[in-house]
Amino acid sequence: MNASDVSRAPIPVHLRIGAERVATGTGGTHDRVNPSTGQVDGTIPLAGPEDVDRAVKVAHEAFLEWRRTPGAERRRLLLRLADLMDENATELSRLTALDNGTKYSPGGKAGMASAYTRYYAGWADKYTSDVISSWLPSKEFSFTLAQPYGVIGVIVTWNGPVASIGMKVPAALAAGNTVVIKPSELTPYGPELLCDLVEQAGFPPGVFNVLTGTAAAGEALVRHPLVRKVTFTGGPATATKVLQACADTMKPAVLELGGKSANIIFDDAELGAALSHGTLLSCGFLAGQICAAPSWMLVQDTIYDDVVDRVATTAKAFSVGDPFDPATVAGPVINEAAIDRILAMVERAQAQGARLVTGGSRVQLPGDLAGGYFVEPTVLADVDPQSEVAQNEVFGPVLAITPFTDEADALEKANSTRYGLAGYVHTQNISRALRVAEQFETGDVMINGAGAGVVNRPFGGLKISGMGKEGGRQGLEEFLQIKGVGIGMGDGFSFGG
Ligand code: NAD
Repeated sequence: MNASDVSRAPIPVHLRIGAERVATGTGGTHDRVNPSTGQVDGTIPLAGPEDVDRAVKVAHEAFLEWRRTPGAERRRLLLRLADLMDENATELSRLTALDNGTKYSPGGKAGMASAYTRYYAGWADKYTSDVISSWLPSKEFSFTLAQPYGVIGVIVTWNGPVASIGMKVPAALAAGNTVVIKPSELTPYGPELLCDLVEQAGFPPGVFNVLTGTAAAGEALVRHPLVRKVTFTGGPATATKVLQACADTMKPAVLELGGKSANIIFDDAELGAALSHGTLLSCGFLAGQICAAPSWMLVQDTIYDDVVDRVATTAKAFSVGDPFDPATVAGPVINEAAIDRILAMVERAQAQGARLVTGGSRVQLPGDLAGGYFVEPTVLADVDPQSEVAQNEVFGPVLAITPFTDEADALEKANSTRYGLAGYVHTQNISRALRVAEQFETGDVMINGAGAGVVNRPFGGLKISGMGKEGGRQGLEEFLQIKGVGIGMGDGFSFGG
């Protein structure tokens, strides 16, 4: 494949309300910028509060039918959708590369989105409620009913426009809810194609609605009285506002937020795999804009200098550029503001004592990419554990490295941040790995290169990294509310006991 052979043409974007494709929104328009070129590539409609109100009412009407649709039919539709995603994987990848610079990977499957859809399809006709009474001659016979909430408000950010929807929506639909999704206005193309695939799969109109929009649409969605639960992916500052709006309207929320995930490398680790994995996920793939990126490497002091050299060599070799070029490892960051924020953090890190080992600058590419938002893969060593870059998410291609002495020291440093998304540990000592896993103050722990985004393992942070889970049975249960039912057994009214 030659990078120049692939079309960079975007597709028209609509608001999707029931069966309607709406070309103009009450929230105005947005000039969408391709982060690889810095050029506007489309003017897209933005949903306003009026569109949100209409979409939620349509989704509520659809819910009244969808909740009664047999689980086997929900499963069939979700499986069909997963098949369509895989059949259209190349086009989904092309649009995601346009959306946010994710590396284009033609062929293959639709990645996390289709994998989660297939997984939750399987749950649609298998989840059960509990019988509570263990013997019949009691005062009451009791059981639970696991029921859908109704309309779920789904708000996602730009770094995984299709993957984030895939992690949330199939679980909500499998459980019998309907959804109104608000993608980021920065990344509208992947979600637009997903709407076509949902339509082709044959879902009833109104079950899956998409309103691309800004914060105003997100806030209107969260506050809508017919939205019974919210699931949000984004930053902790926005999540605080979402949670405040949820409190005002008394509804629960799942919050999948940012992280500063430590990657502890002990001196008995299988270093080759540990370092290539840690460097790629922190300052290569998606230019480090991954929520669970292992962006703070804690290295045992006995191997520290060697590891810093090897990581720097790996990072320097990452090719930065066009996401459509097969040789590219790191594409652009999302916009100009991100470049300013990232480079300012790197400068402040040095002022706070960190040593810049490689990177630290904007990358200026020729031709069509001259206006693109590219940053060098950056490695900072000798990072003070209390400094800004150790304690805060950069959300860019920046890896911070700090030495530690022993297990207790590593854990104290790893747990010192406000975040609690993921923890990584590399060691050949399985007892130590399990001790560390137990003590990490994070929602997820990955040992010796295990990956995030595994469909049947729950994912979701602690502390300011959020609340609630995606993936696994727990991800389904987020979209089911439990009702307790008791049947009197005939010996009169009772209360309590
Ligand atoms: P953000 O928080 O600014 O925006 C996220 C979404 O919320 C967007 O769609 C935005 O329009 C909407 N929004 C903004 N204000 C709102 C409001 N008041 N009410 C309702 N919706 C509102 O996104 P960001 O900070 O640029 O996203 C990056 C962050 O997302 C990083 O911290 C990253 O780690 C995190 N993230 C987490 C996960 C995860 O699964 N834990 C996955 C991907 C990204």
